[in-house]
Amino acid sequence: MQEDILRAAESFKQQIQALSKEESIAHLEKQRAHYNEEYADFLEHYECESCYLCGKSFKTISKSRPCPHWLLRRCKFKKKDFPKILEKYDFYQISAFLRWVANAEAGVKSINNLREESSERKVFEITIQWRNVEWTLDCSRNDFDGHTGTKADFPHWHFQMRIDGNQFINFNDYHISFTKDDQLKIVLEQDRGSGFLHSFGAGGQGMQEYMERLTENPDAFIKNAVRADQPEEGTVHMQSFVKGPEGGIPGEKIDEAMKMAMETGKTLAHCFREVLGDNENISISTIASPADSVPAISKRTKRKRR
Ligand SMILES: [Zn+2]
Ligand SMILES: [Zn+2]
Repeated sequence: MQEDILRAAESFKQQIQALSKEESIAHLEKQRAHYNEEYADFLEHYECESCYLCGKSFKTISKSRPCPHWLLRRCKFKKKDFPKILEKYDFYQISAFLRWVANAEAGVKSINNLREESSERKVFEITIQWRNVEWTLDCSRNDFDGHTGTKADFPHWHFQMRIDGNQFINFNDYHISFTKDDQLKIVLEQDRGSGFLHSFGAGGQGMQEYMERLTENPDAFIKNAVRADQPEEGTVHMQSFVKGPEGGIPGEKIDEAMKMAMETGKTLAHCFREVLGDNENISISTIASPADSVPAISKRTKRKRR
């Protein structure tokens, strides 16, 4: 890690800590207003299949104006054009664009950034699905440090792109440099005491943020969740266990809860709570897991040298 990045991170931390509560809130408000404006602009363009960054249709490729929208592959984008995008856009900008389109298209379930499914060796490992295209952004600790003794002796990340399941850009094709700004954000994010958390906004949320919110307030989720008869349609798969008192739960209560679930489309856990009321002898536990529709994180195969 370069000295100047670490120094910048340290000074950033001190600046954050020196802010008063009012100043922090004002800063956050300003960021939120800026985000809202940018995201509204994005959505307006997205609805007509055009790009808010360059103003052009997704189908247009103009070589003089490289743009992340090329990655949607609605235009005649070729693999060799990819470095042109990287010259103009950094990791966070590309990530934000890909997350926003995926989330706008199919919600949080199209972004698998689940830390649980990611390896300890990774700084990040994220797979994003948009229509027939799948992107994976991958950076191991070794990549972030740079592969010593090779040409890729600088902080970098790897990118894979598949179209209809076929390889279009491979992980090993490029060692993509992080900009100084990228590096600073990553260093700050990894440092839990920094008080810094990069957010892609509500429109950029993936499964990780979704599961975190679910863990914070499971009752609200169970209440609002629609029962998924087709698990591949939903975002999370909820499985409930109802444990009754000695002698079990009366059969008619079970029927009533089942009927309610069928009619309202609510989860069984919610219906059991409604039907059985506040009975201390009954415990309902729900296990929430990502639905089958969430794309698996595309793994980079281990090689002796990368
Ligand atoms: Zn564009
Ligand atoms: Zn590498």
